[in-house]
Amino acid sequence: MEECEVIIIGGGPVGLALATELAWRGRKPVLIDQTDGVIRHPRAGGISLRTMEHCRRWGAAERVANAGFNLNLPLNQRFCTSVYGYELATARFPSINETKTPPESPQKVARCRQMWLDPILTQTARSHGADVRHRHRVERFVQDDDGVTCDIHDLEADERSQLRGKYMVAADGVNGFVREALGIEMDGKIIGDSISILFKANIYELGGEPCERYILTGPKGNIGNITAMDGFSYFRMILRGAPAFDPKTFDAEGHVRAAIGSPDAKVEIISVFPWRRQVRVAEHFQKGRVFLAGDCAHVMVPTGGFGFNTGVGSAVDLGWKLDGVLSGWGGAHLLESYELERRPIASRNVAAAHKLHEAWSPPGDMAKILDDTPEGTALRAKVGEQLMEGTKAEWESMGVALGYAYQNSPICVPDGTPAPPDDPHKYIPTARPGHRAPHVWLADGRSILDLFGRGFTLLRFEGDDESEVGDFGAVAAQQRLPVRIHDIRNNNARDIYQQRLVLVRPDGHVAWRGAKLPNAKELIDAVTGA
Ligand SMILES: Cc1cc2nc3c(=O)[nH]c(=O)nc-3n(C[C@H](O)[C@H](O)[C@H](O)COP(=O)(O)OP(=O)(O)OC[C@H]3O[C@@H](n4cnc5c(N)ncnc54)[C@H](O)[C@@H]3O)c2cc1C
Repeated sequence: MEECEVIIIGGGPVGLALATELAWRGRKPVLIDQTDGVIRHPRAGGISLRTMEHCRRWGAAERVANAGFNLNLPLNQRFCTSVYGYELATARFPSINETKTPPESPQKVARCRQMWLDPILTQTARSHGADVRHRHRVERFVQDDDGVTCDIHDLEADERSQLRGKYMVAADGVNGFVREALGIEMDGKIIGDSISILFKANIYELGGEPCERYILTGPKGNIGNITAMDGFSYFRMILRGAPAFDPKTFDAEGHVRAAIGSPDAKVEIISVFPWRRQVRVAEHFQKGRVFLAGDCAHVMVPTGGFGFNTGVGSAVDLGWKLDGVLSGWGGAHLLESYELERRPIASRNVAAAHKLHEAWSPPGDMAKILDDTPEGTALRAKVGEQLMEGTKAEWESMGVALGYAYQNSPICVPDGTPAPPDDPHKYIPTARPGHRAPHVWLADGRSILDLFGRGFTLLRFEGDDESEVGDFGAVAAQQRLPVRIHDIRNNNARDIYQQRLVLVRPDGHVAWRGAKLPNAKELIDAVTGA
């Protein structure tokens, strides 16, 4: 039987991110995906600052940022009755080319729709040594004390074989079979049905102000939205509260034409994809040697674009822990901390997405929204204001992307300082244990984030006295724990990090900080889950 260290089921963006993370760390994961790897109906596509920081580490940021989206398209978000109907309000944002890199990150957000993203991640994972196998399906698995054995169906050759891994990660999406096979339930609820229509149209040639997204309100409330896929002529319409989907009677073109609202629109329907809006989190992210990541662990409404980005966060958290355990320096409890750290973040992000979803449907009677009367005008102005206020955190969600923290993590050592407010809209940089170590540009042009990665990093901010790191390096070497010590001579960084010594984990989160190192062995045991 073929053997490997980690089997990943599912080659969606989260499985691919995990394969990349593990391979970047020198492991050789085997990823099994039943599709041919071509994305015919893109879903994810808004890439957060944090995900871009991970892409930077993997060497994929440039490709993700320049995958094909029109970088000159203003990222305006318009609330309207139809693209060429009444405007309720518009949140105006510059194009990606005109946007400056924010001070909080070395990267900008990106638009990399899944038809580009998944192939880029596949290529990146393979370039680091991951074994990505398309057109293969996992049909069954069984775990014992030492590993997990999968029955694999090669869909091309129609052959069956077995693959055994020390660990298995299910990234098999919202309809995958692994979670149920493990007997893990989901908390939360299904909100309703949606239909996504992919189409080409000449929206930008008809003369209106170009926007990245048009959020549509009609007399019965929110209808859905039209979102630019490539920023030129390729769009996706999402119909909210859609009727039960019947491919024989569903009039995709009629819906798109009504949403554009111009007799001159040229529309070509490409594909239609029914899906469910849900806000649900699995009760557990681990059972024995099997872990859940991505949509099979947490599924949320796409409002805010947090789903895939949350999955990448989980993939990175699990990636370094699996590497630690497989390398021998990870403690007996390291893998348990995956669920303890990531489940609260999944619940937080699911709640944030749900709140934004509600904000798209402000309360009140919309029956007169299309009326060409003073009442209609007043209603449109009021609804426009409500929508602008309620959705602020959707367009500027830096707090969601960068402000999450592993509170109460068993492998972060609290320093007694209070947590800054967790505001989805605002990110407050802090090096408090559990938080993402904040970005600062260094004199040599690198971000401080570029120092973190394959192992732990001990940052030593020099003050008046040279801080002692004592036997930390020697004890780490004894335990085969990869640690690098960096002296940082940068007042800005020292002000933000607030302590002379800061220990950063391989995923760029702070494990410990203080003025003086405690007993090296005790600290290493704590942060590696011994
Ligand atoms: C309309 C829409 C827009 C969205 N926009 C955004 C956005 O802008 N930003 C964002 O962050 N998120 C967004 N999301 C959410 C995002 O698409 C998902 O969170 C993301 O795709 C989840 O990735 P995944 O890898 O977990 O699962 P999936 O993408 O579902 O991939 C699972 C893969 O596993 C394969 N698989 C399943 N079972 C097996 C098996 N037994 N053997 C082999 N292979 C198997 C499947 O074929 C599939 O390839 C959006 C979602 C929707 C519906």
